[in-house]
Amino acid sequence: MHYQPKSDLLNHRIILVTGASDGIGREAALTYARYGAEVILMGRNADKLQQVAQAINQLNQCPAHTVVFDLADATPERCHQIGEQLAQQFPRLDGVLHNAGILGEIVPLAELDPQIWQEVMNINLDATFFLTQALLPLLLKSDAGSLVFTTSSVGRTGRAGWGAYAVSKFATEGMMQVLADEYKTHSLRVNCINPGGTRTKMRASAFPQEDANKLKTPADLMPLYLYLMGDDSRRKTGISFDAQPGRKPGAAE
Ligand code: NDP
Repeated sequence: MHYQPKSDLLNHRIILVTGASDGIGREAALTYARYGAEVILMGRNADKLQQVAQAINQLNQCPAHTVVFDLADATPERCHQIGEQLAQQFPRLDGVLHNAGILGEIVPLAELDPQIWQEVMNINLDATFFLTQALLPLLLKSDAGSLVFTTSSVGRTGRAGWGAYAVSKFATEGMMQVLADEYKTHSLRVNCINPGGTRTKMRASAFPQEDANKLKTPADLMPLYLYLMGDDSRRKTGISFDAQPGRKPGAAE
């Protein structure tokens, strides 16, 4: 995407990023902070989150906040509590990037361990839904809230072996569409990003034989991640965007 945001694009914006400790989420959190946002980093690993917070604090922009939360432990009650705690600290949320996710196992559905199915659905889908419900009141306090889910090309066309991960991403696309329709007359916009094959640890576990140097880095994707959090995307809702338009799904050639 050829998008050149203004350097103050996200000034006065408060943005929460899940899975902010690594990969694409880490890069998005750093990028949002660089463009002026006050960032809330959510993740399960306190040390890794702290390192990202330190990197953000060295930018001399808004200091970062951290919320240590393992999405495997997400229940509606726990997410509601987190929403309440955030409401005591922050007047609103202008953006939420649901980025955290797990791959599970790459095996045919017939062989997929039902426990892995449940873990993937818990983290990629249920936790995302519980957290969304809990954060909606804060998002609706923004005059231009942006709710962004993370999808995948296997969440649009099924692919053999991609099991629960693919199904969870189809459901994520569905959740985005339903919410976008529910809030179409409101200032809240709801969209998905498909990052496309990107150099991260999740990608390396899915394609261990691949030459990672042929893949885009998380930093390469950031124009779209910025676009969807800033004012230039204000009236865009219900859309599943590609961070790498035209990229053929599958291993890098
Ligand atoms: P990474 O595995 O590099 O990072 C995943 C992030 O999610 C990490 O911060 C990880 O935390 C966090 N996370 C995982 N499980 C939990 C949990 N139980 N509770 C809280 N946080 C958790 O993945 P990517 O950056 O590659 O992926 C980011 C998103 O992009 C995912 O939704 C993925 O499905 C999607 N995507 C990625 C593609 C790619 O090629 N990389 C392609 C298409 C979609 P920790 O640091 O503790 O492990």
